[in-house]
Amino acid sequence: AASAKIIDGKMVAKEIRDEITTEVSRMKDAIGVVPGLAVMLIGERKDSATYVRNKKKACESVGINSFEVRLPEDSAETEVLKFISDFNDDPAVHGILVQLPLPKHMNEQNILNAVSIEKDVDGFHPLNIGRLAMRGREPSFVPCTPKGCIELLHRYGFQIKGKKAVVIGRSNIVGMPAALLLQVLREDATVTIVHSRTQNPEQIVKEADIVISAVGQPDMVRGTWLKPGAVVIDVGINPVEDATCPRGYRLVGDVCYEEARKVVSAITPVPGGVGPMTIAMLLSNTLSSAKRIHNFQ
Ligand code: NDP
Repeated sequence: AASAKIIDGKMVAKEIRDEITTEVSRMKDAIGVVPGLAVMLIGERKDSATYVRNKKKACESVGINSFEVRLPEDSAETEVLKFISDFNDDPAVHGILVQLPLPKHMNEQNILNAVSIEKDVDGFHPLNIGRLAMRGREPSFVPCTPKGCIELLHRYGFQIKGKKAVVIGRSNIVGMPAALLLQVLREDATVTIVHSRTQNPEQIVKEADIVISAVGQPDMVRGTWLKPGAVVIDVGINPVEDATCPRGYRLVGDVCYEEARKVVSAITPVPGGVGPMTIAMLLSNTLSSAKRIHNFQ
């Protein structure tokens, strides 16, 4: 049986990190500036703590400075806002990231609004999202996960222009910006968004040349949903119980990989697909920010 090409996000992310390492040292040698990323973690969520640790490690691996702030779950919103305001003014900081989700008592909108749009490396400031949605406008930053999906398609040479793309999921951080990127920002695909209220999602997905799935349901997208020859980018990272794994669970995507790889022409694995790309894009956004702030080409 035919078997799909595996889109190796881990390898591409490594290539990108190497490119960033070179650029970081070139910038340091030329103008004495080291890019800096401030990361804020509020509360004790284990998954968030892991993401923050990985982001810090990734910064170190390419020579970007990282500054971490940890605040307790019951901190006041004003405290968070004060840190953001200090980072906005700090010349050593070129990117500011507030790890989501925030504790329930905090207003996410107030906090994301407070990040300077010139340091908004997550691309979640409403102004950056607004610009992403408009023709002829340039956001200062594009959200990292959807940017990583598009970057994978580019680096593997898959054509997006003129293709039918389906994005499954419409969250602010993945699905919605992925759809905007495919369509408005010069990628010129024709995009349909499938969400939890969509009727007959399998029929819609079956039309797609490119599928980006960001749902959070293990193995929801079956092989029969997919058009033969389609390209699948699976953003989902879903734990499923597995007693044979040391941790008692393993991670799977939204797309049933074993079925899909017999039907499609290319697919990202989980893990090792989009996940590593997200962090690579964060580093890339931080480097771009430092270059822009210091007018360094
Ligand atoms: P959210 O829960 O915020 O959004 C999920 C989206 O999927 C919603 O829009 C929801 O629709 C839709 N949805 C839920 N159930 C169905 C269904 N049965 N059929 C169709 N659509 C459905 O999740 P995120 O966007 O934050 O994350 C999605 C997945 O991606 C998760 O597995 C997460 O772990 C992973 N992820 C991976 C990252 C990476 O770096 N690789 C980064 C971020 C997330 P509705 O709007 O109608 O509720």
